[in-house]
Amino acid sequence: MGKTAAWQDWHLQPIAGERRAGSAGRSMEVVNPYSGDTLLKLELANADDLDQAAAAARKAQVSWAAEGPGVRSQVMHRAVAIFDQRRDEIIDWLVRESGSTRIKAQIEWGSARAITLEAASLPGRAHGRILPSDVPGKESRVYRGPLGVVGVISPWNFPLHLSMRSVAPALALGNAVLVKPASDTPVTGGLILARIFQDAGLPPGVLSVLVGAGSQIGDAFVSHRDINFISFTGSTEVGRNIGRLASGGEHIKRVALELGGNSPFVVLADADLETAVAAAVFGKFLHQGQICMAINRIIVEQPLLDAFTEQFVARVKALPCGDPGQAETVIGPVINARQLAGLEERIAGAQREGATLLTGGPAQGNVLPPHVFGDVTADMAIAREESFGPLVGILAARDADHALELANQTEYGLSSAVFTADASRGLAFARAIRAGMVHINDMPVNDEANAPFGGEKNSGLGRFNGDWALEEFTTCQWLTVQHAPRRYPF
Ligand code: NAD
Repeated sequence: MGKTAAWQDWHLQPIAGERRAGSAGRSMEVVNPYSGDTLLKLELANADDLDQAAAAARKAQVSWAAEGPGVRSQVMHRAVAIFDQRRDEIIDWLVRESGSTRIKAQIEWGSARAITLEAASLPGRAHGRILPSDVPGKESRVYRGPLGVVGVISPWNFPLHLSMRSVAPALALGNAVLVKPASDTPVTGGLILARIFQDAGLPPGVLSVLVGAGSQIGDAFVSHRDINFISFTGSTEVGRNIGRLASGGEHIKRVALELGGNSPFVVLADADLETAVAAAVFGKFLHQGQICMAINRIIVEQPLLDAFTEQFVARVKALPCGDPGQAETVIGPVINARQLAGLEERIAGAQREGATLLTGGPAQGNVLPPHVFGDVTADMAIAREESFGPLVGILAARDADHALELANQTEYGLSSAVFTADASRGLAFARAIRAGMVHINDMPVNDEANAPFGGEKNSGLGRFNGDWALEEFTTCQWLTVQHAPRRYPF
């Protein structure tokens, strides 16, 4: 079999069953964050495009949902085959558009493929129930069905996976979907997904992608009357506003909010030092730390503090930085110059607040070398706020109770990790952490297609993956049939 020709015409958006330019009369350049090269220029979509896409989605959803589970499942299986066929092309886009190192791009490709494969099983799992009833002669049933039109808003850090984890299950369960990808990553966060599903045989109009400025179509997207559910992944600040708009206004709709994190990585005094250090390096610096689950605070029980710090800093200093396209690179560019400026300000702030810089250095282009701070206390901004970049602070804990207190001292509750040689102790510690996800003797960056992904506190609402996605992207209807005339009291 010959090589599949690369997909072309990325400047066109799949809107309402057609591939065309947006109508905003404004264009946008998509830039490679490492080289600064322009990857493509596209015309942005506006509120009219959104209206057309939503109307087409509403219409197409009805016949899509009426397809049997086998047909919807088959589309997902074909999408998985396209992932395999176009693996290199997809990975290459992740490297060029989002500054992913090859290691990260391969992980992201694998996660997006896995959630699509999981979605292939969902149509057959979306069943209702027959309930017992106290009313004589009554049959009580629960039907499960799609929500209708699902709106997906995704961030730029894991654009392919974080869009796909909503798009694939939502489609598989009979919904139509509109995606608004992040402006830095329109291809990997939206346009590639549309190509995959188009080639997999998804009927036209069921999936549209709208690349538009948040200021022009953001509010209209979230409050659109034809969109029944908003699945948002991004910052807590934007998520708060989206929650207010989606369910506090004229139209009350369901929202899933997957927001920021401040993951603690706790090393108790009995932990295996070498394993903990290796986990901390990966869990902090994968994708330059631009991961919601990335380690944001390292909390070490006093007896191990010096040894941990010494080994961790030595490992971090040796991480290869630079071109994300090179197989050995671990630290590639951050997404853009604005993000870099914010990180540089955060680094200066940590020093002003009295943290000790243990390793660091100036940025080369958008590549910021890893920064590690010691003598960090819980009140410092570097501990309180999400860094979302290649920098981290180490906090000392007097004992395990203090480590737990520090771990929970955050408004966020997404992921977390604890290292200990005693599994029962680890379990008790993990159960006391107020976070949606805790990993014992591993780092906090974990996501599996069948396990519930989501946060507590200001990290959001809702869960992704497996059975939890099935709940999230469907609704149920209680229906009764009165077989014998009912006797009413009056
Ligand atoms: P962001 O909140 O700035 O943007 C996320 C998305 O929202 C983008 O597509 C953006 O265009 C869109 N957006 C912005 N303003 C909008 C508005 N007013 N209306 C509608 N849409 C709007 O976040 P980001 O900088 O892209 O991503 C980083 C953040 O995302 C971090 O806080 C990170 O922790 C979080 N995140 C969370 C998860 C998770 O699963 N919990 C995963 C990845 C990233």
